[in-house]
Amino acid sequence: FSEVKNYDPEVADAMQDELSRQRNNLELIASENLVSKAVMAAMGSHLTNKYAEGYPGKRYYGGCEFVDVVENLARERAKELFGCEYVNVQPHSGAQANMAVFFAVLNPGDTYMGMSLDHGGHLSHGSPVNMSGKYYNCVPYGVNDEGFLDYDEVLRIAKECSPKLIIAGASAYARSIDFKKFREIADEVGAVLMVDMAHIAGLVAAGVHQSPIPYAHVTTTTTHKTLRGPRGGMIMCSNEINEKYNFNKAIFPGIQGGPLMHVIAGKAVCFKEALSDDFKEYGKQVVRNAEALAKALIEEGFDIVSGGTDNHLMLVDLKKYDLTGKEAEKVLDSVHITCNKNTVPNDPKSPFVTSGLRLGTPAVTTRGLKEEDMAVIARAIRLTLLDQKLEEAKQLVKELTAKYPLYE
Ligand code: PLP
Repeated sequence: FSEVKNYDPEVADAMQDELSRQRNNLELIASENLVSKAVMAAMGSHLTNKYAEGYPGKRYYGGCEFVDVVENLARERAKELFGCEYVNVQPHSGAQANMAVFFAVLNPGDTYMGMSLDHGGHLSHGSPVNMSGKYYNCVPYGVNDEGFLDYDEVLRIAKECSPKLIIAGASAYARSIDFKKFREIADEVGAVLMVDMAHIAGLVAAGVHQSPIPYAHVTTTTTHKTLRGPRGGMIMCSNEINEKYNFNKAIFPGIQGGPLMHVIAGKAVCFKEALSDDFKEYGKQVVRNAEALAKALIEEGFDIVSGGTDNHLMLVDLKKYDLTGKEAEKVLDSVHITCNKNTVPNDPKSPFVTSGLRLGTPAVTTRGLKEEDMAVIARAIRLTLLDQKLEEAKQLVKELTAKYPLYE
């Protein structure tokens, strides 16, 4: 960092401001986390200098013997962590991992099913503004009025549209997903089941959510959410499925060029961390904290979609208040609580305005916060959104961020 400061103070100042923001704010964005210094050091390293198109042992460039070691470590650790036979650690992001599966499994125009964006799905699961919605025919499914997945409805739609692929997985769904049921549905209509476990990968690694690996034909993930690694993606499946679809070829040369070896080193370090007993305890605490936060918010008077959570996130439904998700996000930011607006089921407002908030506990749990602190956060949220007592809320946030310092 001091090198950046000496050479480029403008960038260094912004980096310093961002560090202060991370230290002074309570991070409740459900898709974010705070990586270890070891993960960060691997990412910010000289490995960024190396071109390594291809895969370990079969590269298109010389001098790859040491980055081969790094990529093999990442692969072997990922296999051990999730119990899969094949893994590709090269996707630059979760969206790239998903795109590669589409590229390998589907042809343009093919029909597939994904959870709709306004019910909790991800942009890359068929949104009309994404390539997944432009190049392929996505038939969406959603949640019922209570905010739960309705598997009978998923089956009904699948029988109607005969999809080639079904995606299970979400960005804003607070309940456990039954991957076994999804596989039964896929088998009944002869579809490939792809699970995108980006949000819950860390919970799966910690054993606090059903693993998709035994049920999905292919599983994609990001590595930077609950898994607490560098920003990036990954694809996993059995050797048999990979022989059929060749996901290595889909990533390179299919949709990417050279892999980001510094990020792959960060992934390897992250997987070593995730294999530890400490990480298992972390995953459990993420879920305990989410449960405690949902309960405390309900006690403060808020409505939580589906009445609670089984995982690391929850959706606060603000419809009964004269308050949009957009306004709530902004005013919470002013008291140093960071979160994002989110649509709720049957939201009358647009995705840019919304009637809800998505809150998650992965980052605050990394910081060390426990169940009793969740009650304080809920109180600060009520003081901010309902009582307009912003100074009191700010003080509560300040006490928590001082109690749990970051990157000292
Ligand atoms: N899949 C799911 C379920 C996600 O929630 C996200 C990101 O939020 C992604 C994929 C995309 O990941 P990335 O932002 O790394 O492309």
